Amino acid sequence: MTIHVHSYATHSATSELVPFTFERRDPRPSDVAIDILYCGICHSDIHSARNEWGWTQYPFVPGHEIIGRVFAVGNEVTKYKVGDLVGVGCLVDSCGQCASCHDGLEQYCDNGFTGTYGSEDKIGGTPHKLTFGGYAEKITVDERFVLRIPENLDPAAAAPLLCAGITTYSPLKHWNVGAGQKVGIIGLGGLGHMGVKFAHAMGAHVVMITTSPQKGEDAQKLGADEVLLSKESKLMAAAQNSFDFLLNTIPVGHDVDP
Ligand SMILES: [Zn+2]
Ligand SMILES: [Zn+2]
Repeated sequence: MTIHVHSYATHSATSELVPFTFERRDPRPSDVAIDILYCGICHSDIHSARNEWGWTQYPFVPGHEIIGRVFAVGNEVTKYKVGDLVGVGCLVDSCGQCASCHDGLEQYCDNGFTGTYGSEDKIGGTPHKLTFGGYAEKITVDERFVLRIPENLDPAAAAPLLCAGITTYSPLKHWNVGAGQKVGIIGLGGLGHMGVKFAHAMGAHVVMITTSPQKGEDAQKLGADEVLLSKESKLMAAAQNSFDFLLNTIPVGHDVDP
């Protein structure tokens, strides 16, 4: 038996997302099966759908900011039960045996992690040799790669935490950003708005660095204390060496010297 799933897929780098039906594996002993409620749209989804990184295989089902409710669990699952609100991010498997996996750094797995979409499906259980992401009704994931989502969070708003959120939270946390520090967040897109909110919540003095006055206004609504317009060379010069930490969220190549 397998789990039939409706989804949206692209079939080439230039085609639209279209309805696509496929099968997920039934839960193995350590798996959690999830009814997907919401899935964020990450720019990586678009890069991948358009094969802008050169590795996409089709059909391609994007989505790695997944929120849903558990509807079935394998008999060895200990962390989750039916009905739990859960999330799945960018990874769905790794070897679990190597030094990196033992250190909780599955993204550096010596044997290669499995991405939530577009990766070789090493577990199998369905006709597909690829993983399919969260633009779909359901997903089956090993419990090691499932996260608990607090019931007091709006599940739709929580979805982007699974990629844009962790991508900005991780460096801010790693470098101990907090009160008494001046932190510049460069760019206000999917990542930048998370960076502003996190840095503000961590108690830092937050400066939005942007080319756009309009985005500066939006950043202040999200918690930025100041706006620095990067096209204003005098303002940029005045800000030189004043930051404790800079988080660059610009998704395209650009001159970082200024
Ligand atoms: Zn992403
Ligand atoms: Zn590993």
